[in-house]
Amino acid sequence: MPAFDVRQSLSRRTEAIEDTAIIRMAQKARDLQAAGHDVVSLTIGEPDFDTPVHIRAAATRAMEAGFTHYAPGAGFPELRAALSKNLKAENGIDCPPAGIVMTNGAKQAIANACFAVLDPGDEVIILAPYWASYETTVKMAGGVPVVLHAGLEDGFKVSADRIAKAMTARTRLVMINSPSNPTGAMYDHAELQSIAAVVTAHPHALVMADEIYEYIAFDTAHVSMAALPGMAERTITINGFSKGFAMTGWRLGWSASAEPVARAMAKLQGAFSAGPNAFVQQAAIAALEGPRDEVEKMRLTYRRRRDVITDLLAKIPGIRVHRPAGTFYVFPDVSALIGRTAGNHLISSVEDLCDWLLDEHHVATIPGTAFGDANSIRLSFATSETEIRKGLMRVAEAVARLS
Ligand code: PLP
Repeated sequence: MPAFDVRQSLSRRTEAIEDTAIIRMAQKARDLQAAGHDVVSLTIGEPDFDTPVHIRAAATRAMEAGFTHYAPGAGFPELRAALSKNLKAENGIDCPPAGIVMTNGAKQAIANACFAVLDPGDEVIILAPYWASYETTVKMAGGVPVVLHAGLEDGFKVSADRIAKAMTARTRLVMINSPSNPTGAMYDHAELQSIAAVVTAHPHALVMADEIYEYIAFDTAHVSMAALPGMAERTITINGFSKGFAMTGWRLGWSASAEPVARAMAKLQGAFSAGPNAFVQQAAIAALEGPRDEVEKMRLTYRRRRDVITDLLAKIPGIRVHRPAGTFYVFPDVSALIGRTAGNHLISSVEDLCDWLLDEHHVATIPGTAFGDANSIRLSFATSETEIRKGLMRVAEAVARLS
């Protein structure tokens, strides 16, 4: 009998899913920590705060009250109604509860969106640097990613003109993430308006606006694409409770879109999973309707750390930095360090730089290649100011060793 290799049984589709550098670097940092090393991890992609107490209490109450059964496929009507009201009041978006689908994290909302609107061969414009999941999900849904890259000198933002030139009759989606992971860049009203004008010139194109970091905006107000004239019908807004409310482990996200798109997404979700966790949805009502002082306190803390980390990076020769307008990430351009040497070690790429920083200096960062950018690295400031200062001291010492 021929030798059996179960790996031959795997689908080609799963080949589109790559182990990301984020997971690899975070694991490597944990391994070094487990081996007794003092590692500063600046890789973290989630708030370092616990979920506010009143939200946790609401979840406990809901569980005790019997919210332990299947929830409706698209979510509880009272939560969708609360979100609809919130969208109108805070974002200026007109979306009835029927346009809202509750999901198992924003991640599932993104997958629902891709599978609901893409046929094989359809093109998706992804603005890079981007969150790596976008490309993977588009490919899994049979779409073709068309990546447009912006560097630090463009403020990490792609112009409407460039989007216009990249759009074809096959473009179905333009993915925008503002505030952006990994750069912290935010598209302002005028920029979104120009992009909206480009998209609306194409009869079949929609925008997917991932606004998961909307509550972590530092200098200017967040603007929602769907609030612009004519864009509510054309936009699938993606959002969730993970980042703003420090609820990553609860796995609750949502989409807001035109009703036919919402119905298609709910249908897909019904086929793949079900409505998200019942008592978590009840707690989400408390998150939306309860006090927001904790959310604001977290934002102010991130803002302080943003200033600390950006100022420290700006002082390191060879590193160029763009001050993030939101999120808890900063994305310095380190291209001037590539090709330099430490002893007989050549820093040949940003991956190599991140490995060297971790192996030799015990500070963990993520190479920009994980986000479609070979010039930069991502540092997270979802960690204490003490750790940030310690980590940045190590980066500065490491860079000073390069010749
Ligand atoms: N969108 C962006 C840009 C993200 O950075 C993340 C998480 O890192 C998500 C979506 C997914 O969030 P959730 O935890 O709601 O699935």
